[in-house]
Amino acid sequence: MSKHNFEAETWRILELLTHSIYSNKEIFLRELISNCADAIDKARLKSLTDTTFLWDDNEFKITVESNKENKTITITDNGIGMTWEELISHLWTIAKSGTKEFIDKLAKAKEDSAHNLIGQFWVGFYSSFMVADSVDVESKSALDKKAHRWTSDWKSNYDIEEIEKETRWTKIILHINEANISLLEDWKLKELIKKYSNYVPVPIMMRAYDSRTDEEKAKEPKIMDFEQVNETKPIWKKDKKDISEKEYKDFYQSVSNDWNEPLFTIHNNAEWMVSYKSILFAPSDLNMYQNLSDPNLEYGPKLYVQNVLILDHAKGLLPIWLRFISWVVETSDLPLNISREMLQDNSVLEKIKKALTKKVINELWKTLKDNREKYTKFWANYGKIVKEWIHYEYDLKEEISGVSLFKWINNSSLISLDEYLEKATSKKIEVEIDWKKEEKDEKTIYYIIAKTDSEAMASPYMAQFKEKNVDVLVLTDPIDSFLVSGFTEYKGSKLVSITNNDIELEKKTEEEVKKMDEKKADFKSLLDLVKSTIWDEKIENVVLNEKLWDAIWALKTPKNGIDPQLEKMMKAMWQQVPVQKRVLELNSNNQLIDLMKKEFEADIKSTKLNDAIKYAYYQAILLEWWELENIWEFVSLTNKFASNYLK
Ligand code: ADP
Repeated sequence: MSKHNFEAETWRILELLTHSIYSNKEIFLRELISNCADAIDKARLKSLTDTTFLWDDNEFKITVESNKENKTITITDNGIGMTWEELISHLWTIAKSGTKEFIDKLAKAKEDSAHNLIGQFWVGFYSSFMVADSVDVESKSALDKKAHRWTSDWKSNYDIEEIEKETRWTKIILHINEANISLLEDWKLKELIKKYSNYVPVPIMMRAYDSRTDEEKAKEPKIMDFEQVNETKPIWKKDKKDISEKEYKDFYQSVSNDWNEPLFTIHNNAEWMVSYKSILFAPSDLNMYQNLSDPNLEYGPKLYVQNVLILDHAKGLLPIWLRFISWVVETSDLPLNISREMLQDNSVLEKIKKALTKKVINELWKTLKDNREKYTKFWANYGKIVKEWIHYEYDLKEEISGVSLFKWINNSSLISLDEYLEKATSKKIEVEIDWKKEEKDEKTIYYIIAKTDSEAMASPYMAQFKEKNVDVLVLTDPIDSFLVSGFTEYKGSKLVSITNNDIELEKKTEEEVKKMDEKKADFKSLLDLVKSTIWDEKIENVVLNEKLWDAIWALKTPKNGIDPQLEKMMKAMWQQVPVQKRVLELNSNNQLIDLMKKEFEADIKSTKLNDAIKYAYYQAILLEWWELENIWEFVSLTNKFASNYLK
């Protein structure tokens, strides 16, 4: 026998689990059974490439037995087993990613939240110490000639010794502590299996109920039959009409560790083109167990081929922007011995992926229409991820953008593009059809890209929209600028940036046009001076604009230029962006501009005017959240103005 010490981290988690305020100790069985099921999946998979691997032992099952006399619960499986090294490395170190984070959270958590935390986290093998004083793990791996027993009371350390055993298997013996003696009742164990492990796709066997009296039992002890306690058939293989809503919900909660109901469930049996069965769930709220921003994230449904679990997460079955969707796809259209490499760019998977993606989008549509409140909550958590479609999807543009929700100026609630179009009034525009000019009704979807809502609202370009009560989508997610750069039209209506275009919400009267033309002529020399004073390779032109609200100036991006927010993001991602020219617009209705003009007429070389021009230009730059190249000049100008003001 050899003795070993636990690692410091293992200590911490054991301490926390056994002494924690946490009361839901019964999940230990779920954890151990799930390990058995994983070990059986691994054995099945191995047998595909190694036909002698299973020998005669090919009826996979998990057995749960209790012994009141010895106060033990034993969980046995005929899965892959563990070698001596594996017993040490798997049960000794906490190798799982996220475990450290979990321990820290748990240590800080208050009583009620600790409860939720453990409920969500697969604490694994260690949870056995919540109910047992000591644990023995006996295991024989098919890859090892010898079998071993691992024993620990967790308080000090653990021992490993060699034992006699021929066939492949793992047996976990829990020596139940006094506080949890009630777990030794068979009915209790059955209840726990039904509650937490009903859908494990391996038979879970327990002694059948013995209806004889205690006397009869004492007289004639007999070897009891075993019966299967969990569902015989995986839920996705059942007929849809035989499954109740509650069953779907229970299944989801038991496999996802999410205690909420799913947003929706898609159960699909396809026989055409490719044949597959699938059950997919979308979460209704954030599931802390899923870290969807992790770049190494494993996502995608489980993939079964003819009852064998081939992959825990088949990324090839769903696009990454649907990575919050889980659960299972089973197909018989793939060969059993398919390798991981063959699964990449596989045409069967591609077809299933296409079909599933469409199904999910359809379901999102339905939920958006029928259950707006739930959908809005979902969108708040997952909308950012859905919007990533812009990087990957080209064929389904319209469908996906239709299920997107956006902020908009007039309301704190979110709006869809269809709702926007319903409210928008159409404008008659002239179009040429077959060389004939015709008038056509057209609606435009206006948007503004900004860092925050308040920045959007304060934009000089927003003024005319507020005044005329025209809706503008407010795009503040970093991904939004990518979204609108690749997606420019929805159902025939153009998406138009209010900062990148000359937008006339109302056609000017002839008189107004004439007045503006006169003003332009009147200001021409001043504009030329401004242009030469602030000469910068980024400035394409300097023009007048009468719709700039309170601002003195604003920097506009020409029609096909890259939006400033997008430019900043691209640069942050080390992408090469050509110099983006902007148009400097002067507010023709601002008093300061008039004062500048007066000064200009009095003295074309005025330093005051020169200072004012520079100052206003710096302001325009700051309004775009750009950095000033010469911040000291800006500061000294500000000080000059302030001291003059206070004089
Ligand atoms: P997890 O299952 O999340 O990896 P656990 O602490 O529950 O974490 O288990 C640690 C590891 O021990 C497993 O990953 C597996 O390799 C091994 N293991 C546990 N139970 C069994 C079993 N019944 N058969 C084979 N290996 C097992």
